[in-house]
Amino acid sequence: MGEFTAPPDPSMGTQARAAVPTTRPCPSCGREFGPGAVCQNCGQVEGMPVGTKVAPPARRLGGALLDGLLLLVTLIIGWLIWVIFTSKNGQSPAKSILKMRVVKLSTGETVTRGQYFARWLGKFVLRLISIVGLLAALWLLWDKNRQTLWDKIADTIVLDDRSTISA
Ligand SMILES: [Zn+2]
Repeated sequence: MGEFTAPPDPSMGTQARAAVPTTRPCPSCGREFGPGAVCQNCGQVEGMPVGTKVAPPARRLGGALLDGLLLLVTLIIGWLIWVIFTSKNGQSPAKSILKMRVVKLSTGETVTRGQYFARWLGKFVLRLISIVGLLAALWLLWDKNRQTLWDKIADTIVLDDRSTISA
């Protein structure tokens, strides 16, 4: 009439220990670095000299707004001529003013002019399709049949069934 008790599984303990993430202190701030190539706490970039940090989001946004302003005041053409020079250093005009620079994550090297414009093309295309997507949705605001652009493509309209039930 002995009670059956399973012997403790020794593998459970080691598995539990292995599941605990290994701590990796940041050389800049000393706190846990986190899973990425950039310190989740201070922005220090892995494998680069201490103090080399990614630009914080607010600074990136500021750069985008400044580039927009510079595009306006230089009537676009001035900015386009300007960026030919700044892109050599991995910068837009606003990035050169605000002291930000685009580098390759894998090497830490400043992008070449070709890499800079390849990145810029990606940004241009993504922004363009974002605007097109937004416009396609907003189309129903001024459309006589309240159709979005995908409604037009599919030849559909959207009914409010509350009205058909009461009719
Ligand atoms: Zn850090």
